[in-house]
Amino acid sequence: MTTLRTRDTASLTEAEAAEELAALSVEIAHHDALYHGRDAPEISDAAYDALVARNRAIEARFPALVRADSPSRRVGAATAEGFAKSRHGEPMLSLNNVFSQTEFGEFCASIRRFLGLSAEDPLRFVAEPKIDGLSINLLYEDGAFIKGATRGDGIEGEDVTQNLLTIADLPKRLHAPFPARIEIRGEVFMDKADFLAFRTAQEQAAAEREQRRARGEKLGDAVVVPANPRNAAAGSVRQLDARITASRPLKLFAYAMGASSEPPAESHHAFLQRLQHWGFAVNPLSTLLDTEADAEAFQRRIGDQRAALGYDIDGVVYKLDRLDWQRRLGFVGRAPRWATAWKFPAEQATTVLLDIEIQVGRTGALTPRAVMQPVTVGGVVVRHATLHNEDEIARKDIRIGDTVRIQRAGDVIPQVVEVLPDKRPPGAQPFAFPTACPVCGSHAIRDGEDVVRRCTGGLVCPAQAVERLKHFASRRAMDIEGLGEENIQKLFDEGLVRSPADIFRLAHHAERMRQWEGWGARSKKSDEARKVAKLLEAIETRRSVPLERFIFALGIRRIGEQNAKLLARHYHTLEEWRAKMVAAHVIGSEAREELGSIQGIGPAIAEELVEFFAEPRALAALDDLAREAPPLPAESTAAADSPFAGKTLVFTGTLETLTRDEAEAQAERLGAKVTKSVSKKTDFVVVGADAGSKATKAAELGLRILTEAEYRDLAGL
Ligand SMILES: [Zn+2]
Repeated sequence: MTTLRTRDTASLTEAEAAEELAALSVEIAHHDALYHGRDAPEISDAAYDALVARNRAIEARFPALVRADSPSRRVGAATAEGFAKSRHGEPMLSLNNVFSQTEFGEFCASIRRFLGLSAEDPLRFVAEPKIDGLSINLLYEDGAFIKGATRGDGIEGEDVTQNLLTIADLPKRLHAPFPARIEIRGEVFMDKADFLAFRTAQEQAAAEREQRRARGEKLGDAVVVPANPRNAAAGSVRQLDARITASRPLKLFAYAMGASSEPPAESHHAFLQRLQHWGFAVNPLSTLLDTEADAEAFQRRIGDQRAALGYDIDGVVYKLDRLDWQRRLGFVGRAPRWATAWKFPAEQATTVLLDIEIQVGRTGALTPRAVMQPVTVGGVVVRHATLHNEDEIARKDIRIGDTVRIQRAGDVIPQVVEVLPDKRPPGAQPFAFPTACPVCGSHAIRDGEDVVRRCTGGLVCPAQAVERLKHFASRRAMDIEGLGEENIQKLFDEGLVRSPADIFRLAHHAERMRQWEGWGARSKKSDEARKVAKLLEAIETRRSVPLERFIFALGIRRIGEQNAKLLARHYHTLEEWRAKMVAAHVIGSEAREELGSIQGIGPAIAEELVEFFAEPRALAALDDLAREAPPLPAESTAAADSPFAGKTLVFTGTLETLTRDEAEAQAERLGAKVTKSVSKKTDFVVVGADAGSKATKAAELGLRILTEAEYRDLAGL
């Protein structure tokens, strides 16, 4: 197809220039499509560049001849930062929905009212199956495809021109005659069969990537396994590399227009015919209905065909056929008054529940999942459904062996709607939700209102290990430099680090670590050669951190930095804290009372701590860590001569010169432990105005009672 043009541009006549520019436009577009597509380019980069340069030279001499579809004007190449924004000539609107014959009747009545029509005037509609894909806006000038954009926010989308050029259904040029400038709207989608094959390939790629991760090899790009055809289509169009889009089996139906330099037709059905004439694919099921009464039968017919269609649809769009009426009706908000989407009910199917699996998430949450006899729902084979949580299973009384009705709505994971009680096999037992983690065997508990049951084996549970280790090493916790997410994953996958204590034993494995790609002593890059040494040095410097950091690093639920600080100040040493936490397991014990009396430590936090220490595996991991990396006792910030250093103090009643919070913070700075309740272990009780039972109890126990003035005096305030 390439023609060698050697004539000097200076000798071209205007007519010859116009002819050559037209040829160049087609030719360069052809090579662009090959370059971005799957097929091998037909010409070398240098030859391509020569064509572009020739085009530019002719345009420079004849600026009036620059074509709308000139390669020099073609925009939309994605940058590394993402896509350029593109403003639609006319906004891309959304549709209102109806779900029943009654609602559709109301929609028709509102059109009649607005236009002042009588009940006898028939409303002609064009009915079009509503495909679940990605809506796009295509700009054509002088019949040439100029630019294409996603819907975005309706006003402005992303310029995906280069990617759309790879879709075979998209006409690069329209068959004449056509308006000088027109926006065409359509839907990019993936067939069900193509989607299933694509998804299987992506699953395979994801599994291979996991194996590479396990072997510590280079991972390459992330692999997305799309949940449904719509996600697959949208993800494919929004690729920064158009070659990836080209490799995806995408289709396009056109169905509407945006801005146009002239009215392209009298009616919507005539417009659809023009779309086909121009070269677009139009959904062959689109039908002109003579009256609105035909809509119900059409809806039912398409509903019956739905599962057998090659693509996913979620309803039928009904558009008023007369364009002059469309213009009069206009828009309300962001939706047209002259069209509506009549949605199908969610797709359902019945199948047998074979098992209930419990998955453990990275945060320790136990999530139940239904394992079912495979069943086709809306063209997609479904084997699993979400059961949400323990309460949901109990509420619906879902038992293994039950026949269940499942539902798939849009991109939502299938869910179990209900059990069919007549089909329950004899002897089916209510499901007993496990109280131990299926991964590590630790207690799994629910606290308070929380519907989620969680594994308490954070330090030892493999399901949570990487997440916990990341937290442990993070800047605000142990702050180990060079131990970020990627390295932790690697160390975990290699089996060198399974618990926090293992980090401090890594020096034993230095030789092995140096063998890894990118970690090695043989690496020519100096930063890589030193990587293992630097990491081990960083670990050494963090072998002893203040107790509060150590506590926070354990990642006990609800124990953030603030609570870790409170605990460290109160208990001072790890040994003391550990002993008291274990003892606090007994409700009503002195240790439990003491824990509950710490300002800022509420019952839910106390419960969380007690659960952690009640788990033998967690305790073993903690002791292991304490041997490797014993924390420093909490600093007693108090001046050594403060009379309150190490003393237990209770405030009661209203203070005059300080708020309660200020007073407590002040006392803690002086080294006191501030508690809420009075016991014989209390050293001082500071009594303000209107002190109640605490003052009485202090007097009974013969404790030292201070007035606010006396306290200020002693504290040196
Ligand atoms: Zn676990």
